Amino acid sequence: MKLPRLPLKGSCLCGSVHVSLSALPLLTLACHCRDCQKLCASAYSLTAMFPADSFSVTGDLMRGGLRSKGREHHYCRSCLTFVYSRITGADERVNLRIPVLEDAAALPPYVEVMTDEKQDWAEVSAAYSYSRFPEGADELRGLMESYSKGWSEPVQPKD
Ligand SMILES: [Zn+2]
Ligand SMILES: [Zn+2]
Repeated sequence: MKLPRLPLKGSCLCGSVHVSLSALPLLTLACHCRDCQKLCASAYSLTAMFPADSFSVTGDLMRGGLRSKGREHHYCRSCLTFVYSRITGADERVNLRIPVLEDAAALPPYVEVMTDEKQDWAEVSAAYSYSRFPEGADELRGLMESYSKGWSEPVQPKD
């Protein structure tokens, strides 16, 4: 994988919400679950997990989606772009929607999950494929370790 420059920057469609990430993603994934299909009005969601302390966001956001306990989906209040999610119990991570990043193409999905619920025609070229979610913290940690080994050069901070 070609190493993107840090910080990674992104914005919503209308440009009133801006995100900045001072670290590389821990993992990138495509999720084929029915919830993600509806949340993203698409065949699957594209997510990059980042350490929460590397993430900053400015602008006027609101919660959307199911607003269920344990899941917080954050949208731009003006244009309603789906920007990021936080999951209770995984407070050390932020799940950013990859398409909001300026260089979204630099972060292809490394894992696809929930293929049990995928659209028959939807094809994702990911290194790993799971019919459901990876089981347990160990499996997720293993995926993050192998993902991080894919970066080809050391991190070059901007300026
Ligand atoms: Zn917006
Ligand atoms: Zn999903």
